[in-house]
Amino acid sequence: MVRLVGDVVDFEPGQSVAVTVPSSPHLPRRYSPALPPSRDGKYEFHIRAIPAGWVSGVIVNDTREGDIWTIDDPAGDLRVDDTDDDIVMVAGGTGLAPMRALLLDLARRPRPPRVHLFVGGRSPRDLYAADMLSLIARTADWLTVIPVVEKMTDPMYRDEYFDAAETRRLQTAPDTGFGAGDYLQGRVGEVVARRGPYLSQRVLVCGSPAMSAFTLRALTTTGTPVANIRHG
Ligand SMILES: Cc1cc2nc3c(=O)[nH]c(=O)nc-3n(C[C@H](O)[C@H](O)[C@H](O)COP(=O)(O)OP(=O)(O)OC[C@H]3O[C@@H](n4cnc5c(N)ncnc54)[C@H](O)[C@@H]3O)c2cc1C
Repeated sequence: MVRLVGDVVDFEPGQSVAVTVPSSPHLPRRYSPALPPSRDGKYEFHIRAIPAGWVSGVIVNDTREGDIWTIDDPAGDLRVDDTDDDIVMVAGGTGLAPMRALLLDLARRPRPPRVHLFVGGRSPRDLYAADMLSLIARTADWLTVIPVVEKMTDPMYRDEYFDAAETRRLQTAPDTGFGAGDYLQGRVGEVVARRGPYLSQRVLVCGSPAMSAFTLRALTTTGTPVANIRHG
């Protein structure tokens, strides 16, 4: 997770922006802000290091306080219309970032729409923002968060981010995450599609290219109209 402050960039919640970091000045990459636009230029990005990727690993490992990022070219159609009153969000991995920006923006509405957010990962530790999600859901009666994992057991190999967060949590904070009984099991796209078709809902999908393609196929195969789906 990277937080920045700077000039105001004009984007809509749910859109992605082109980011250029100082260590890779000629390799812009698209990332989705996890906060809606703020008047004081605050940004948060959730970045996953892709093995063998040119830029994401550098961002995750080498970003330092004082770095200056260039952020421009907002784009994308992952949005909620004013008339949408029933939303299904499907997020895989860092696909949660634009959903979070949308949720925080919807929370400002006098009457937010009903939202079911399915957030998927391979195992519970992949749900990197589970504590934040359960906190938002506790105060927002219009939002239901459904964690979905392929396996209930975390793999044996280490995950530095998770291990550090877990150590901090054990030392300082109460458990605000999901209980074992809250999880559904399966691939998130499959789990969501099985509960469809979504004939009157707006369905928003964001995740890795593979997750998005799988989810779009599962949704349309089970009868959700393409016109109801937007993806990031
Ligand atoms: C609209 C949009 C929004 C995005 N938002 C985010 C975000 O909020 N957070 C985030 O971490 N990433 C996001 N991405 C992905 C990001 O733009 C980069 O593609 C990613 O960080 C990899 O960059 P890289 O330079 O490390 O890898 P590259 O050197 O560009 O690619 C290395 C290899 O990894 C593959 N690859 C790229 N992305 C993925 C992926 N997600 N899963 C599996 N394989 C992949 C490429 O196809 C290539 O084969 C977004 C992408 C798009 C198009």
